[in-house]
Amino acid sequence: MKLLRLIANLGYGSRREVTGLFREGRITTPDGEPLYADDVIEHDQVRLDGEPLDPAPGMLILLNKPVGYTCSHKDTGRLVYDLFPPRFRQRSPQLSTVGRLDRDTSGLLLLTDDGALLHRIVSPKSRLDKVYRAELAEDLRGDEAELFASGSLMLESETTPLLPAELEVLAPRRARLTLHEGRYHQVRRMFAASGNHVLSLHRERIGGLELAGLPEGQWRLLGPEDRVRLF
Ligand code: URA
Repeated sequence: MKLLRLIANLGYGSRREVTGLFREGRITTPDGEPLYADDVIEHDQVRLDGEPLDPAPGMLILLNKPVGYTCSHKDTGRLVYDLFPPRFRQRSPQLSTVGRLDRDTSGLLLLTDDGALLHRIVSPKSRLDKVYRAELAEDLRGDEAELFASGSLMLESETTPLLPAELEVLAPRRARLTLHEGRYHQVRRMFAASGNHVLSLHRERIGGLELAGLPEGQWRLLGPEDRVRLF
């Protein structure tokens, strides 16, 4: 792909604006040699003002989502995309969340611009573990683990029962829940079905990926070794 298109697709500006960056000599090789709009060169051999470009398309990102941010491109209020450099909103292909976390849920959220990878992760066939920690309004009754593991729990307005899920009781009002599917508001609805109410919800893990100390609101690019841990 020609450099003009590659850099415009990364969100650094319109074709006209990126043409201006070439004219000003701001796009160079790592040695500072000027590059030109029609050049075809590896992404990692390009510098803008001496800095490497943003990641190439095909990226997978792990975000520690704070409470209060919505997984949407056009909702009102704070969006998870506000946690990235503004030019990420102009990238083509577009960066999207892999599934969703509710506005009031925090924790591990994946984002990608790779549609095939996104579908592979969210596909019901993948059955990836999704691990949540929930703080509850009421003491656990004691029969929830059995109910959630039964494979016969039916949520309101659904036509198929939930897959078996594993509950670990951490304290009278705190539990860890491992799901192998992702239905709308699933954790909150499961606890509601057991007569309880989720006060706060945090996703700790997807597949073999954890936040591992990543601060809230921060993100990191995942490499090939992380992708292996995911599946
Ligand atoms: N289940 C929920 O209820 N909310 C989430 O954000 C994720 C899973």
